[in-house]
Amino acid sequence: MADTDITVELLPILDDNYAFMLRRNGNSTVVIVDPGAAEPIAQKLAERGLQIGTILITHYHADHIDGVEQLALATHVEVIGNGADCHRLPKLTRTVEPGQRFELLGTTVEVLDTPGHCQGHISYYLPDAKVLFCGDVMFTMGCGRVGEGTPDVLWHSLQLLSGLPDDTVVYSGHEYTLGNAKFAAHVFPDNAEIKARLEKIQAMRSAGEPTVPTTLAEEKRTNPFLLAGTAERFAQLRAEKNSFRG
Ligand code: FE
Ligand code: ZN
Repeated sequence: MADTDITVELLPILDDNYAFMLRRNGNSTVVIVDPGAAEPIAQKLAERGLQIGTILITHYHADHIDGVEQLALATHVEVIGNGADCHRLPKLTRTVEPGQRFELLGTTVEVLDTPGHCQGHISYYLPDAKVLFCGDVMFTMGCGRVGEGTPDVLWHSLQLLSGLPDDTVVYSGHEYTLGNAKFAAHVFPDNAEIKARLEKIQAMRSAGEPTVPTTLAEEKRTNPFLLAGTAERFAQLRAEKNSFRG
């Protein structure tokens, strides 16, 4: 049965990052995903009388973890991340590993193995709430850069994510969508759905609206990296995107 009592809010931080707040309705103890800055999050929570119970970390990059230490100073904050990466993460109170499941806010969280942007990158999938937090692996109409490893590794991570149910709501770590959509239209010029989505995204960004989250169904139809089809084509597209100036 779908768990509709879990809500997710965007917490825009830094230049173009999103941290996220998960909450079970009415509960004042919340979960924060990837707090790359402490102040804006602490302020928002204080204004609303909320406190952090748990912090989830997808990967070690500063824009995803720099707020952890300060936010975890408060009493009894659980800090969860990939045990294999603990040497370069803030102090974890609980390590997890890919393939593992655990309970949070009364719902199940699956830890997905999604390296390629960097080693040790994990994603958090909540099958009952139908929500995915995929950090810098997949973005709305895009994907992360290949940091550690080969494009092949990232391709396999994207394949894993695209195997989740179509109605999964995808929360990714950055507002990169306008550039991603321009690139998508550039490499798939005959795809009407991509063109229409680019126009929609241009309008949303002009109005200051976020383009995160998205759904996996939308991504499977219009994300150029999911449409690549093969690891070879994916590697080509990823390299082309690195130098694309839309
Ligand atoms: Fe990153
Ligand atoms: Zn990032």
